[in-house]
Amino acid sequence: MTDFAWTRDQFHLPEGVIYLDGNSLGPMPKATPARVQQVMEPEWRDQLIGGWVGAGWHLAPERLGDRIAAMIGAEAGHVVVGDTLSIKIYQALAAALALRPDRRVILSDTGNFPSDLYMAQGLAHTLGNGTRLKTVAPEDVAEHITDEVAVLMLTEVDYRTGRRHDMKVLTAKAHEVGAITVWDLAHSFGALPVDLAGCGADFAAGCTYKYINAGPGAPAFIYVAPEHAGRACTALQGWQGHDAPFAFEQDYRPATEVVRMRVGTPPVLQLAALEAALDIWEQVDMNDIRARSIELCERFIAGVEESCPQLRLASPRDAAQRGSQVSFHFEEGYAAMQALIARGVIGDFRAPDIMRFGFTPLYIGPEDVDRAVEILAEIINWDLWDRPEYKVKAIIT
Ligand SMILES: *Cc1c(COP(=O)(O)O)cnc(C)c1O
Repeated sequence: MTDFAWTRDQFHLPEGVIYLDGNSLGPMPKATPARVQQVMEPEWRDQLIGGWVGAGWHLAPERLGDRIAAMIGAEAGHVVVGDTLSIKIYQALAAALALRPDRRVILSDTGNFPSDLYMAQGLAHTLGNGTRLKTVAPEDVAEHITDEVAVLMLTEVDYRTGRRHDMKVLTAKAHEVGAITVWDLAHSFGALPVDLAGCGADFAAGCTYKYINAGPGAPAFIYVAPEHAGRACTALQGWQGHDAPFAFEQDYRPATEVVRMRVGTPPVLQLAALEAALDIWEQVDMNDIRARSIELCERFIAGVEESCPQLRLASPRDAAQRGSQVSFHFEEGYAAMQALIARGVIGDFRAPDIMRFGFTPLYIGPEDVDRAVEILAEIINWDLWDRPEYKVKAIIT
């Protein structure tokens, strides 16, 4: 059984803050500064370039990839860390398209994160062979999986509403018509149990700065299923994905399997922060996290619906169809979120009218949920959001 008092104690959380935005940027584990500092001193200070081998920096993307693989039901040796999620989606999509050269459609949904859609549009443009991105409403995806589809590219949990696709069912449906799947796990990894091999997923990618708590700018990861790993081509042929990077050959030769998805020099300081974050995850049971997350989300929904009838639930009511976040529509959602943040309850706002709250059992408990509901109810029922300073739009919401 996961000890949630212990996990909460692993994080630095500012006094008086109820942090419901760990789905955007996780808080800092207490162990992280020392772990990052160790890379600076003594590793970098004393070993200089020798640190690549001596301190294990060079193989960290693969070493951490294996630790992530164990958390998402992936086979060891089939996950590698690096770059950003947008880039890993691009690589996965390019590799997937190349496996279906006679098809031209990338199918996704209109709720997908814009960067994933932009990457697909950019790749289609670069290919210039008639490849196009087709987006349909999330609930209509299944019926559009036809034999014109080369790649089904979806984010399992919708960043805005928390709506969850059935990864296993949709992957099977895609395979029935001969399509390849690319799954984005941005709001799944660390939020709910993921079983990539069990779902038969072909490619997947995710990030580590949201639920995983590896810090701003922490790298992404990519998964390539064993059946494709020896054939998948990376669109970004960087030297770190070469079979012999230090042979400095003129021509590209892919490294074995998922290692070919490495691109350039890894972010070593950020990888140290990721290591510290994973140390915590290895002490918890993902099924406990899921059970607790559902409990917290249900408690929040019930509390808000009872005390703030002006807010309308934007997330699925059925917990099984939801990730680990709850969103509400409210016309003055932006101002209401600013008012909440001013009172120490940090969530975020997604246009046009969504107030979004992430529930992260590692450091959020039922008492935080109750307090957040109380503060929200005051803001809504007394119109405390109705002040000019809460309506000034910031660049980052
Ligand atoms: C957060 C998020 C991203 C962000 O991509 P970066 O390249 O890491 O900035 C991409 N896709 C989804 C679905 C996300 O939620």
